[in-house]
Amino acid sequence: MFEVEESWCEDAGRDENTLRGALFGPVPSTGLGPRGTRRKKRTRRKNMKKRKEEETQHSEVGHDTPPPEQDDVSAATWVFGETSRPRKRRRKSDKERIADDRLGCPSDTCVAPSVRPIEKVGAAPPTTAVCLKKTQTTEWKSRKMKASGGEGEGDERAKAPTPGCSVGGEGGVHRGLNPVHKQAARKMEGARFRWLNEQLYTSTSTEAMAMFRDEPNLFEVYHRGFETQVSKWPSDPLDHIIADIRSLPPSTVIADMGCGKARLARSVPHRVHSFDLVALDNHVIACDMVHVPLPDASVDVCVFCLSLMGTNTAEFIREARRVLKSGGALRVLEIESRVTSLDRFVSDMETFGFSLVRKRNFSKMFVDLVFVAVEVTGIASPIIQLKPCTYKKR
Ligand code: SAH
Repeated sequence: MFEVEESWCEDAGRDENTLRGALFGPVPSTGLGPRGTRRKKRTRRKNMKKRKEEETQHSEVGHDTPPPEQDDVSAATWVFGETSRPRKRRRKSDKERIADDRLGCPSDTCVAPSVRPIEKVGAAPPTTAVCLKKTQTTEWKSRKMKASGGEGEGDERAKAPTPGCSVGGEGGVHRGLNPVHKQAARKMEGARFRWLNEQLYTSTSTEAMAMFRDEPNLFEVYHRGFETQVSKWPSDPLDHIIADIRSLPPSTVIADMGCGKARLARSVPHRVHSFDLVALDNHVIACDMVHVPLPDASVDVCVFCLSLMGTNTAEFIREARRVLKSGGALRVLEIESRVTSLDRFVSDMETFGFSLVRKRNFSKMFVDLVFVAVEVTGIASPIIQLKPCTYKKR
C-alpha cells in the first residue's frame, strides 16, 4: 500500500514536470533524487544551510542591497509561481518585493533579485519574462512620474510655475521625500488648503486674522495651496490686472487689498501699497483690510483680486471707498459663481459710492468688474452679498 502511494507521488511529480516542460520549456533539474532518499535529505540540509548564510549576509549589508544572484532559479519558476527553491524562500522574497513596492522603492535593487535570474537563465519563454519586467518597470515609472508631478495633475505646475512662487512646489517642502510620501504630503496639503479656504470664506476677518496670528505657518500652507490651485487654472487672474496696470501713468498709486505675496507690487513700476493678514514678503503690510494704514482719498486704483473673503465684505468695500480718490477705480476680480446676482451686487456697490464701468468674464470662471468711485451721501445698504467658496465633502 505504502509502496504504491510513494511511486504514484513520484510519477505525479514527473508528469507535472513533463507537462510544464511541454508548455514552458525544460525545468532545470533540482539535483534531487526520489523523495525520501538520503541524497535528497542531505542536499536539502545543504541548501538550507547555504540559504541561511545568504540571508544573514543580506540582512547584514542592508535592505537595499540585492541578495546574491540565484542562478538555479528558472524563469518558469518565477513567472508561473513554481520554484525549484523551497517555497519559504520564494514567498519571503515576494513579500519583500511587495513591501518595497508599497514603500515606493521598487528599484532594480529591490525587484531584481527575483527578476534577474530570468535574464540569466533564459529558460523561460522570453516574451513572458520580458513582459513581466517591463510591466513592473512601466508601472513604477508612471507612478513615479505622477507623484513627482512629471505627468497628470502636477504637470502644469512643473512646466509653468506660478510667477513669483517661492515656496512649495517640488523643489520646496517636499524635497527629499520619496514619491509615495510626496504624494501623501501633497494630498494632505491640499486638504489643509481647502479647510483654510473655507475658514477664510465663512468667518469674519477678525477671526481669520486671529487664526493666522495663533499659527503663522498656516498662512504659508494656505499660499502653497493657493499657488497649486492657480497653476491648474488656464491663466492666473492677477496677470490680467498686472497687464492693465502697466499701461497706467507712472504716478498712479495703487492699493492691493489681500495681496498674498505681493506679486502685483513686484510686477509693476508703480507705487503699490500691499496689504494682507500676514506679511510673507517685505513689500506687504500686515493688517486686516477693514482698516488699512492709508489716509482718506490717497489712492487712484484699489484692487481686490480673489480677496473678498470674509463674511464682512461690506467693511472691505467701505474701506476701499475711504482710501480711493473720487474718480478712482475699484477693480474686483472674483470667482463668478460667488456672485449669485450681478444686478444685486452692482446695486449694493452703488450704495457704497461705486458705479460699474466695465464687466468682463474670462476662463468661464471669473468675473472682472471695474467700478469708478463716485460721491454718495450716506450708505443705505451695509450689506454686500457674495457666496462663500466651499467644497463638497469628500
Ligand atoms: N490677490 C492675491 C492673493 C489672493 S489669495 C492674488 O491674486 O494672487 C486671497 C488673499 O486675501 C489671501 O492672502 C488672504 O490672506 C487675503 N485676505 C483675505 N481676507 C483679508 C483681510 N481681511 N485682510 C487682508 N487680507 C485678506
